[in-house]
Amino acid sequence: MHWETIRKDTTSDVPPRLADYGRACSDFTWAGARTELAGLPCGGLNMAHEAVDRHAASDHADKIALRCIARDDSVSTVTYADLARRTARFANVLRSLGVGRGDRVFTLLGRCPELYTTVLGTLKNTSVLCPLFSAFGPDPVEQRLRLGDAKVLVTTAALYRRKVAEGRASVPGLEHVLIVGPRTAEVPGTVSFDDLMAAAPDTFTIPPTSPDDMALLHFTSGTTGTPKGAVHVHDAVVAHQATAAYALDLHPEDVYWCTADPGWVTGMSYGIIAPLVHGVTVVVDEGDYDARRWYRILGEQQVSVWYTAPTALRMLMRATPRQGPYDLPRSYDLSALRFIASVGEPLNPEAVLWGRDVLGLPVHDNWWQTETGCIMIANFAACEIRPGSMGRPLPGVEATVLEQGEDGRALVTDGRVTRVRSPEVEGELALRPGWPSMFRGYLHDKERYDAAFADGWYLTGDLVRRDAEGWYWFVGRADDVIKSAGHLIGPFEVESALMEHPSVAEAGVIGRPDPVAGNVVKAFVSLRPGVSPTPELERELLAFGRRKLGPAVAPREIAFDQNLPRTRSGKVMRRLLRARELGLPTGDLSTLEGSS
Ligand code: ATP
Ligand code: MG
Repeated sequence: MHWETIRKDTTSDVPPRLADYGRACSDFTWAGARTELAGLPCGGLNMAHEAVDRHAASDHADKIALRCIARDDSVSTVTYADLARRTARFANVLRSLGVGRGDRVFTLLGRCPELYTTVLGTLKNTSVLCPLFSAFGPDPVEQRLRLGDAKVLVTTAALYRRKVAEGRASVPGLEHVLIVGPRTAEVPGTVSFDDLMAAAPDTFTIPPTSPDDMALLHFTSGTTGTPKGAVHVHDAVVAHQATAAYALDLHPEDVYWCTADPGWVTGMSYGIIAPLVHGVTVVVDEGDYDARRWYRILGEQQVSVWYTAPTALRMLMRATPRQGPYDLPRSYDLSALRFIASVGEPLNPEAVLWGRDVLGLPVHDNWWQTETGCIMIANFAACEIRPGSMGRPLPGVEATVLEQGEDGRALVTDGRVTRVRSPEVEGELALRPGWPSMFRGYLHDKERYDAAFADGWYLTGDLVRRDAEGWYWFVGRADDVIKSAGHLIGPFEVESALMEHPSVAEAGVIGRPDPVAGNVVKAFVSLRPGVSPTPELERELLAFGRRKLGPAVAPREIAFDQNLPRTRSGKVMRRLLRARELGLPTGDLSTLEGSS
């Protein structure tokens, strides 16, 4: 399939980085990137020092670090100097509670200023921060607190009562629960965050921190199975800094908004750490998704760099289709917007073009995983966009495509793999370990960690195609790929084609076993508002698919489903569509949206 390449006008006021991609790749070293950071005065490297204290000690101490929009739309601001004092207080709170190096501090919070204080104060104290998604139900919360050896939890009274209190006895290591916000009544077994903060001094000297000290624990989205706890170290901040410069094109004068929830790795690495390291102003929205609210925030806050996700873009596309009318976005001043990026799942070409037409800027897709800790492959500001492609590897990232075995995954023979260097090749994406934010293990699961490596490569579990010029295209997760009549079919390509039909809002595609073909392609489709699911539409979509994709790849069956199952981080859960279709066990559903 072909979508027109989007070329860039690179004569803007803010010179985009990586205008010379080839040169940047050959000149870049991680050691060089490390010199962009300050380092601790006492030696070593600490994320919170880079994100906060370094700026607080500089001439932009009074610059606004956080611009927080509460649910009632009131706006409060926190300067870098304020943030340094608040995080110092929190580090002192931890110290006074006997919480030290390596101890786990969990958050179960929405996007509020206290979240930033807790995350960065924990890092100052060389303790380990593990964020939980505040919409998790009691079971996933308890499971992760236990798996992650939680010692401290920072949450709200309401979340504690609903999601923690009952299961607390089964997490005996959880010594302290700190409650954020006004206390309407005492919550037994907890202490007030505000009271502890008020009593703590507002200066704190960060102790020596090794770049290899554990800093963050992130559970994966659980799209393919039980979530894994990926361990990250302080050195990751080198990668956060460099990749936010290259892949998000951050400059110090930017106003930046990342819509990812802080419970996921994107919300942490690019919602908190990376932008603060760059000293930008970060917009923090406590509210929920709403098309009008989002356009309003983009306009009123004069957001210049926006990092979001395909699922959010698709919701905006439903509210304001590419076909028009554009009244809603046009009623806000979006002129400050300079760069839009997306991550988390494949970005359909339609969404890239929607951005160009409706917001005046194409959307830049990028690819990475909880395990990689930072963006690995991206469409860069200065470079042309090939809609549907994830882009090219960042400088410092060595990516390759490995020869496939029967199941589509890398073929490992006697411990060896084969790189395929020819163009238009398809296979499992592998990365050469060595970048600073590479995960250092799955907590308590060495076997699973070891299984992710072969022959000196990290095997990502994602299948990709690399074109002749080195652009990478997502084909599917190895677990989702459909084998039909001898072809390997990536569900994403089929979903993207269906989404070009004006009636289709979203699609999830699976393989259904078939005695002749092995599998046939079945598509679950949700429709745009006002469109009815009729047999005629079903026939029309089948024909549309055949026209676009050819009979070998096109769906043979269409089912209408207005509520496609998705993870709480917004990804369509194809494994659940498949399990339901085939009457198989549904597996770990702790990250299914709407479950508890
Ligand atoms: P689990 O590992 O528990 O199954 P998960 O892989 O969804 O869950 P994350 O680490 O949050 O957990 O997501 C990383 C995955 O998301 C990638 O491996 C890839 O499959 C998908 N992904 C991320 N960004 C993109 C992108 N730009 N295009 C296509 N897929 C993407
Ligand atoms: Mg994964």
